[in-house]
Parts: sequence; structure tokens; C-alpha cells
Amino acid sequence: PVSIFWFRRDLRLDDNAGLYHALKGPNKVLPVFIFDKEILDQLEDKDDARVTFIYETITALDKQLQENGSSLLVLYDTAENAWAQLLREYQIANVYTNHDYEPYAKKRDDTIQALLKKQEILFHTFKDQVIFEKDEVVKDDGKPYTVYTPYNRKWYQKLTPFYLKAYPNSKYFDNFFKTELLQIPALKDLGFEKSTLNFPAIHYKELIATYPEKRDFPAVEGTSHIGLHLRFGTVSIRELARTAYEFKEKTWLNELIWREFYMMILYHFPHTATKSFKPAFDRINWVNDEKHFEAWCKGETGYPLVDAGMRELNSTGYMHNRVRMVVASFLSKDLLIDWRWGERYFARKLLDYELASNAGGWQWSAGSGTDAAPYFRIFSPDSQLKKFDPQLKYIKKWVPEYADFSRYPKPIVDHAFARERCLKVFKEALSV
Ligand code: FAD
Repeated sequence: PVSIFWFRRDLRLDDNAGLYHALKGPNKVLPVFIFDKEILDQLEDKDDARVTFIYETITALDKQLQENGSSLLVLYDTAENAWAQLLREYQIANVYTNHDYEPYAKKRDDTIQALLKKQEILFHTFKDQVIFEKDEVVKDDGKPYTVYTPYNRKWYQKLTPFYLKAYPNSKYFDNFFKTELLQIPALKDLGFEKSTLNFPAIHYKELIATYPEKRDFPAVEGTSHIGLHLRFGTVSIRELARTAYEFKEKTWLNELIWREFYMMILYHFPHTATKSFKPAFDRINWVNDEKHFEAWCKGETGYPLVDAGMRELNSTGYMHNRVRMVVASFLSKDLLIDWRWGERYFARKLLDYELASNAGGWQWSAGSGTDAAPYFRIFSPDSQLKKFDPQLKYIKKWVPEYADFSRYPKPIVDHAFARERCLKVFKEALSV
């Protein structure tokens, strides 16, 4: 019999918790990756860059496994069908995998666990993508935090070197199941094309010290662009947190803690993926003007910082955090378009798309979230521009026609008018 390690969003061999436990277990380990049809079928763009990234990553993983006499078994089907096939083809003793906290993943894992249980196969799951998960950092009464600052304080209180230690996987690489090369289906067999986007490299150490001064300026290379690697587990959170913890300056580590905070929130309040955390916000009478939405998506609103951000997103799959806050506020408050429309657009475009952080970030911006800015604090896109891109470097890069007033469109809505309208509409919804 074999053990199976099921890769999902933890696409690396080193310092991988579930894989470590599998390799230390009683059987040889067959590594498996499933291109989940249910997820792929929902993607709108045939050249979706995340699929290309996963594809290239698992191809590299397979090479690494071959160097150890093994190979990655890659299936393309629904998770349920793929597991039915595995059960037919292998005598499986144990299955190992890492926790995934998203509502879809939780449901999928329950189904697979039940399927395995029928054949008395144990499903072992581990924490891997965060330092603290689920109920590890909660209030004294055991309830989840809904405000970041006390969560952050408790997070540090709980931290010991143990939680930052790497799993020494490579010591046990002999325990991979030896097999000949298993064929990986081609990208086009999955119905996808190769994306032309560039993927950011893993580099973060150099920027931690200067992060506090540089991180708010979109024209400056002050942040890590590491979200994509965290999303798919091509870097270990323990390595990042350990490195960040060793610095005196904790601003960057605090951002990694925001990520865990939102994952914890999504785990405890799964409805926040699609509904407001504060239910009153679901009563807002959105305008939802489709033409305005289209102008926002294309970066043609007549507000240069909003337009620059959306164009950066459309052409690179990335947008700077400061600008994410500005475009999200503009959509939900100035245009009065349901934050979920924006959340879905980001989900389609962002390389680092992460349901927990995206829904969290959108709800923060719209004011409906756990730990949100009060709804009456409305960003002015022009003041944000003066503060965070005073020399218009970011604007020149993404909206070059801004310099020529005859070519740049007029604002699709007047901010002063929009501000008053937003206050009125939000107040009406919240005072019922
Ligand atoms: P760095 O500044 O170098 O930070 C390092 C890492 O810390 C990030 O990669 C991310 O994993 C984490 N992080 C940083 N800021 C936050 C934050 N505010 N909340 C949660 N985690 C954070 N982040 C995503 O990872 N995926 C999303 O889909 C996403 N959607 C967002 C939507 C909106 C409307 C807003 C306002 C923010 C969103 N964020 C999201 C948070 C943040 O903007 C990005 O994590 C950050 O810009 C990614 O760039 P970076 O990797 O260079 O980050």
C-alpha cells in the first residue's frame, strides 16, 4: 500500500507540513495534484495567469521529484472523480494534505474524507499556510476576534520559536514512492492557454527594513509582490515570518498577520465571502450603473489614481495596496456599486487573489467588514494622489495621456456630489 500526499495550495517540497508527516509515515508516498474541473470551469479567461503559474510550478515540482526517483501524478477531473480513480488504481493506506480554510475547500475535503472513510482510509490534515489558524488565536472567552489590533497582540503573545521552525522534509525524500515518469496533461488539454504575464520572483528580505517608509507609494518598489507565492505555497509562511521576526521593524510581519486575521475571519464567518459582515450593509441601495462599472474596470473614470490602478491590474495582474484601497472606495462609495462586483473583478484579475484577503479588503473599503474604516470616511481620489504620488510618477507610467488634458476623460462622477450621495444612501440603510 501507498500513502498519498495531495498537493493543493502548498506547491513545494521543502518545509511543507503535510508532506513532512506523510514522508515520516509508515508507507511510501505518492504525490498527487488534481486540476479541479469545478474550479477551472469557473475561470472566465482561457489565458488565466494563475493556471499558467500552477502549471509551471507543478512541472518544476515533478522535475524535483524525478531527481528523487519519483514523479508527480497529475489528474484533471472533479476532486470526487479523481479520488474515485485513485482508489481504483492504487492500494491506499493513508492520505495526507494541508488545511484549506475556504468554504469550497472545506466542503470538498469533507466529501473526500467521507469517501475515504468508507474504505477505512485515514485522511490526515495539517496546518501549513499560516502560523496560527482557526481557534489558535482567540479571545480569552474562546470567541474569535473581529478587530485586528487585539488579535495582533494575542498573535505575538502566543508566538514561540516552535511555530516558526521549518519542517526538514528533505531528510525523508527517500520515502517517495518510486515510479517512472508520469505524464502531466498539457495546458491545452485543460482548456487553457499560456499567459504572457510575468510572475514576480521571491524576494523580500531586502525590503523589510525600508518597508515602513516605502510601502505607501505606488511608484516605488517598496513591497514584496509575494502574494502569488503565498497563495500557491511556493514559499513557506514559516520562512517569511521567521525572517521578518528577526528584524526589529515589525511592519511587514504585521501585514502577514493581517493575512492570517482574514483567513481566521473567513473560517469563522464563511458568509463574509459573499455577504457583509455587518448585515445592515446588505440593505444599501446600490446604484450599480453598468456603464460606470465598465469605465472603472477599464481605468477610464477620469480620476487618474483610480485609472492608473485599474490599468496596472489589467496589464500586470497586480495593484499596489494603497491604490487597491482607493479604487475600492471609489467603486463602492463614489459610484455606489456593490462591493461584490469589485471583489469579483479583482478575483478574476489578481495574481495574488486570495478570497479571505480580497473579501476582507473590499469590506474594509466599503465599511461593511469586521474591522472596517467607518463608512463616513471616504477617500478623495485627488487628495490620495497628492499624498502618495506627488510627482505623478505612477500616473505617468499608467495614464500617460493625463498630461494632455484634451485627451484625458472628464470625471464620470463629481467627487463632492458623490460623497454627499454616499453619506445619504449609507445612512438610510444603516438607520433602519
Ligand atoms: P506586501 O506589502 O509586501 O505584504 C506581504 C504580504 O502580506 C502580502 O503578499 C499579503 O500576503 C500580506 N498582506 C499585506 N497586506 C495585507 C492586507 N491588507 N490584508 C491581508 N494580507 C495582506 N491581498 C491578497 O493577498 N489577495 C487579495 O486578493 C487581496 N485583495 C485586496 C483587495 C482590496 C480591496 C484591498 C484593499 C486589499 C487587498 N489585499 C489582498 C491586501 C493587499 O493589498 C495585498 O496583500 C498587497 O498589496 C500585496 O502586495 P505585496 O505582496 O507586495 O504585499
